[in-house]
Order: sequence, then C-alpha cells, then structure tokens
Amino acid sequence: MGLEEKLPSGLLLTSVETVAGYFRKASLWPATFGLACCAIEMMTFGGPRYDSSRWGMEVFRASPRQADLMIVAGRVSNKMAPVLRQIYDQMANPKWVLAMGVCASSGGMFNNYAIVQGVDHVVPVDMYLPGCPPRPEMLIDAILKLHDKIKHEKLGPHRVAEIEQREQEALVASPTSQQQGLLR
Ligand code: SF4
Repeated sequence: MGLEEKLPSGLLLTSVETVAGYFRKASLWPATFGLACCAIEMMTFGGPRYDSSRWGMEVFRASPRQADLMIVAGRVSNKMAPVLRQIYDQMANPKWVLAMGVCASSGGMFNNYAIVQGVDHVVPVDMYLPGCPPRPEMLIDAILKLHDKIKHEKLGPHRVAEIEQREQEALVASPTSQQQGLLR
C-alpha cells in the first residue's frame, strides 16, 4: 500500500507517529544472531529464494549497534542469556525482538534447568512465532505482522512506558530473572 493512499484527499494530515511507523517498519535491520536449528531457516529467509530484501531487510548486521531487530532463532541456554541481554542492550533504539520457534518462545521440548523457558524472561518480546522449526514462509508472516505492529506503535516516552510494562510482566512471570540480573 502506498503512502499516498494513507493521506486524506492528498493532504499530509497525519500524526508524526503514523509517518514514523510507516518508515520504521520498512527499514528493519536484523542482528546476526542464530542460536540453534531455527537459525538455518532464518538464514534461508535471507537467501535468494525467499529474498528478505523485498522488505529492506537483506542486511543482517554483525554489530548490534547497527541492528534494530533481534530474531532469537533457537533455544536460549542459561549461560547464553546474559550475552543475549547484552547484545539487546547494545542495539540501536527503537528496537524489536522476534522469538522464532517454540524453543525461543517457551523452552519447547527442553523443559529442563539448562534452557531459559521463554526468551521473554530475558528481553521484551514483540512477536512470537511457533513451530519446530518454523519455515521461512512463517517467518515472513511473523515479520509482516511485526511490520503492522510497528506501524501503529507509540513514540518516545509512550514507547518506553510500553517496554517497561512488558518487562515488569516478564518479571512477575519469572522472579528468578531479576535475581540473575537479566531484567532491570
Ligand atoms: S524450535 Fe525446533 S528447530 Fe527451533 S531451535 Fe527448537 S528444536 Fe531447533
């Protein structure tokens, strides 16, 4: 859908939030961050068959400072959790997190002490994607849904308040995360 279709009678009568959301959704740069088997599907999404460049996402950044989307592709071990949080903290603002696959979303079949039972215990998650592993088509669907969410997202202090609220909810769900210093 073109920008001109969003404008009433050809006039630019829209909020700054709407315009910012429109451009942000079309300029996501994911961080290179694969953890397990789901990462193979994520890599396929960047290849020529699925062609993530159609959404301006072909540049997977090796530096978190140049990325604003973290696709958590695979299970997160307790050892890896502080590293994941550090990478998230180093990413440029505003930033988003997509939990790819059942392991990243909830621990999946790894219901044991070594695996974090959902990456939302460590970072605020914006989009969950089920499946084991989710196919690239499913990742595309999740990213398009994330685009829609970003398009309608708040700016500035409202966005900060939103993230803080989600972190508090994650803290209630997992009080041990704070003891381990993963949430602030
Ligand atoms: S969801 Fe399945 S494919 Fe993805 S990391 Fe877990 S076990 Fe591997």
